[in-house]
Amino acid sequence: MSSANPKVGFISLGCPKALVDSERILTQLRTEGYDIVPTYQDADLVVVNTCGFIDAAKAESLDAIGEALKENGKVIVTGCMGGKESDIRNVHPSVLSVSGPQQYEQVVNAVHQYLPPKQDHNPFIDLVPPQGIKLTPRHYSYLKISEGCNHRCTFCIIPSLRGDLVSRPVGNVLDEAERLVNAGVKELLVVSQDTSAYGVDLKYRTGFWQGRPVKTRMRELCEALGSMGVWVRLHYVYPYPSVDESISLMAEGKILPYLDIPFQHANPRILKLMKRPAATEKTLERIQRWRAICPDITLRSTFIVGFPGETEQEFQELLDFLDEAQLDRVGAFTYSAVEGATANALPGAVPEEVKEERLARFMAKQEAISAQKLQQKIGKRVQVLIDEIAEEGAVGRTQADAPEIDGLIFLDGATHLEPGQFVEAIVEDADAHDLWGRLVN
Ligand code: SF4
Repeated sequence: MSSANPKVGFISLGCPKALVDSERILTQLRTEGYDIVPTYQDADLVVVNTCGFIDAAKAESLDAIGEALKENGKVIVTGCMGGKESDIRNVHPSVLSVSGPQQYEQVVNAVHQYLPPKQDHNPFIDLVPPQGIKLTPRHYSYLKISEGCNHRCTFCIIPSLRGDLVSRPVGNVLDEAERLVNAGVKELLVVSQDTSAYGVDLKYRTGFWQGRPVKTRMRELCEALGSMGVWVRLHYVYPYPSVDESISLMAEGKILPYLDIPFQHANPRILKLMKRPAATEKTLERIQRWRAICPDITLRSTFIVGFPGETEQEFQELLDFLDEAQLDRVGAFTYSAVEGATANALPGAVPEEVKEERLARFMAKQEAISAQKLQQKIGKRVQVLIDEIAEEGAVGRTQADAPEIDGLIFLDGATHLEPGQFVEAIVEDADAHDLWGRLVN
């Protein structure tokens, strides 16, 4: 199909929050009459949304920019790495423009400058089809509730890239969620840098949604999202006391009984060196309390092993924590120095081989725990959201599994189902990551 519309190629790297930024930029461009095309050759210009979180992500971003320059020649860079323009220009001096995270207007202005739009500018930004572009499948969507972070974890440079916490007004978030649900979204994934801090910067100001007052606060937000009749899943929550209030909503079935809660370590000295939020909370006691309120809760977490100064004994404490906490899903990384992070100056760097050996021990222990937890699901009846249909059957997720990071459930033979459909299944088999089930008619 030939079209005279200007054509933009788009590369989106990084985390779900960056994906939301990409969706917003793409939506704006499409609203203005740009065509979004899938190849460098078809594009008049390419936008690269970069990630600068760790060195490997930076290298990937620089490679992506290099490839786009080679294949197309006209490249606009934005995103987390754009916060440090010199890092990009030193390697790729010929990029047309560089902007930082959430600088939607600068990116769009740069596109206007180098590839003028065909139609008049329309300021309406909406992530919902048909106007909106979603990079995630249509039946689930990330819902970003705030930008930035008030913490200063010593291994992290996100606050210097994205600034302090800025919560989105609760009415805006709920309007967007409602439009997504009306457009067919079946699962809302609430994301931010620190979801439990939602509204702190606005002093939990009362906003409005559908003519009713709603506080800009996590519990009230969850309650309103829970009234929309779709799965609501919380990511990046910290164990502040206020989180307990949301657990009761999970127990009541209003939001999914699922918490993605990055603990990062268990030893108090290391947590203090990391300057983690809620580092002084008694985490195991909290977990027990959450399970008492909501026995079905799924807990996912991430950890860093080999943080500067971590002793064998402190690492052992982390392993003991895994034994006691019995978390359902865990991701782990070895500590790697990020340029600009204050942890780089801490003494006692752990040798690479020790880090790797600790990571292997950590993952082996958690794999055994995860496998055992999944075994306990065999014979149980579960609700499943279908993600895709493959040759052998349907592939979906249970309430315990977030897209892209957790496991899947395979329903062999169920090729008549459709993505976005809710079904019931009996779990028949499990390994350390995934489940196999039989459809219940
Ligand atoms: S809470 Fe810590 S790790 Fe998370 S974004 Fe804020 S500073 Fe970074």
